[in-house]
Amino acid sequence: MAEPTEAPASAPPDEEKGPSKRALEKAAKKAAAKAKKAEHALRPKEPSKPAEKKPANAEPANVFSEGWLKRVYEEKPAKEVRSRFPPEPNGYLHIGHCKAIAVNFGFARHHEGVCFLRYDDTNPEKEEEQYFTSILDIIKWLGFEPYKITYSSDNFDKLYELAEQLIEKDGAYVCHCSREEVNMQRGGPDNRGARYACEHRTRPIAESIAEFRAMRNGKYKAGEAYLRMKQSLTDPNEGNPQMWDLPAYRVIEKNHHHRTGEKWRIYPTYDFTHCICDALEGITHSLCTTEFQQSRISYDWLLEQLDMKVPKSEEKGPMQREYGRLNLGGTILSKRRILMLVEGTTAEKKNAEGTVEKRTIPPSVRGWDDPRLYTLVALRRRGIPAKALLNFVEELGVNDALTEIQPPRLESSIRKHLERTVARQMLVLDPIKVIIEDFAAEDDQEITVPYDPKGTIPGERKVKLGKEAYIDRTDFREEDDPNYFRLAPNKVVGLYNVPFPIRATSYSKDENGRVTEIKAVKASGEKPKTYIQWVDAATAVPVKARQYNFLFKSESPNALDWKTGGWADDLNPESEVIFENAVIEAGIKGLLKEHTLNPSGSSDDLIRFQALRTAYFCVDVDSTEDKIVLNQIVTLREDKAK
Ligand SMILES: [Zn+2]
Repeated sequence: MAEPTEAPASAPPDEEKGPSKRALEKAAKKAAAKAKKAEHALRPKEPSKPAEKKPANAEPANVFSEGWLKRVYEEKPAKEVRSRFPPEPNGYLHIGHCKAIAVNFGFARHHEGVCFLRYDDTNPEKEEEQYFTSILDIIKWLGFEPYKITYSSDNFDKLYELAEQLIEKDGAYVCHCSREEVNMQRGGPDNRGARYACEHRTRPIAESIAEFRAMRNGKYKAGEAYLRMKQSLTDPNEGNPQMWDLPAYRVIEKNHHHRTGEKWRIYPTYDFTHCICDALEGITHSLCTTEFQQSRISYDWLLEQLDMKVPKSEEKGPMQREYGRLNLGGTILSKRRILMLVEGTTAEKKNAEGTVEKRTIPPSVRGWDDPRLYTLVALRRRGIPAKALLNFVEELGVNDALTEIQPPRLESSIRKHLERTVARQMLVLDPIKVIIEDFAAEDDQEITVPYDPKGTIPGERKVKLGKEAYIDRTDFREEDDPNYFRLAPNKVVGLYNVPFPIRATSYSKDENGRVTEIKAVKASGEKPKTYIQWVDAATAVPVKARQYNFLFKSESPNALDWKTGGWADDLNPESEVIFENAVIEAGIKGLLKEHTLNPSGSSDDLIRFQALRTAYFCVDVDSTEDKIVLNQIVTLREDKAK
């Protein structure tokens, strides 16, 4: 819950009750805008520039020993740092969570402390086993190991006990007001009206205890009773909605909790649970995103009420601090929306006559790990190295400013990483066969080609050269042009690493006018204007290559109509382009033997390579003995036209 993507700082009952959430969102937006401004002031130009000036092998600036996170530590220089990453197990983590993981686990690692993975499982309606497994898997893949795996639900008994204690201290009461009534008490729809207490606020402590137990024992249905904290609702000087008697417990009926089964009919809210779990686990630094800035006051308030924190001091109890979250623009990160893409949905729309039209929208992607999505499982499957993601987070830096990034910035960071780390291969996406007619027996050879012409990546491989080779369709034109340097009839072109260039002599076409074969001769002694890639036909390995583009035509898919299904009209039909008949050099088979196909846990051992003049690719887990499947990771350079 602490790293939300859609609803900032909203405990479920709060969400139902409305105003506080809206007020918080507004405040968060304001804070984000302010922070963004501040960031611009600090970094007028490209923020990654300073890092690039360092030697090529230098790590990016260490975000833990400098700047904002250094100051956070200095505020509370704990001997044993204990941090935590507390996701809600109700969806797959996305690129924004990568920052939360890097910050929380990295902070502990930097200070030689420990970091907990705490599943915030207080909403049994939304939790599923697949999410628990995937979250842990991704943390390990990113290179971190939780000190302990805990669950908020581990503390349900303790939380209940503390709730009774809070009532005993006159710090909470059971309220039976409706959502609308509570809204009015909190200042009405815009939070600006007068605030007032309901009759339940002053009920005797003993009565609240009895009613709270009745809630627990099943007397009430959902929405009929809440435990509310007795904060500063009526204090006219208290402007923070987080202090306006937030709910602490609510009734959730007919549930089955994955760990506590049917035991509970009441569940604690985020605002009640989070700070207490932090305190119970001895967390020293509770780092969350700025959406929770306003919640810090209720976080401290509750702990102080329960003697788990010393007022106005960081001596005892956890300290919450907030960093700006990482937003990736132009993409869909909302769980609810990704679910519509993954599972398909039905939408309803009223037409001009006022009748409701139903629309069935089929799934738009293959699953949560479809490489067109920006969930972490999708980025992993697309072949993006874990290390590249962590570098990206470090490059952007950590402070209290919101970081809004567009995908090209992420891609450029990934490209930079791949450039230095992966081997080169020759891949032809749309092959045409070239027959070198005067190819002689002595030309038949194996050429030794380094994995990286610049020598950054060690190693070399053997490439077979034979009479027949494949070149890419885009490297041949039937009509020559003085500005065109690749192959055309009677034109000379070089083949990478081949000792002689070739000259096209003729070509044939099929009944649809597609070129099927080119005949050529050696053009020894001539100087080609350029070199093209090729794959030896006799040893070529057939592959299926998937190229990815943005899932939506619009650059701001979040602004599309997500209510009545209009978003489906904006899907980019070319978000995935498949080359069924691509071919790659035989060396790929050797690589296949040395690597796994399915990175999981701490394994990030995918086969990745740069296909010369094409793009970066990885081998997908869909590959079989007979057919290798490739995913495009990123293009070789940014396509400015997009
Ligand atoms: Zn009430």
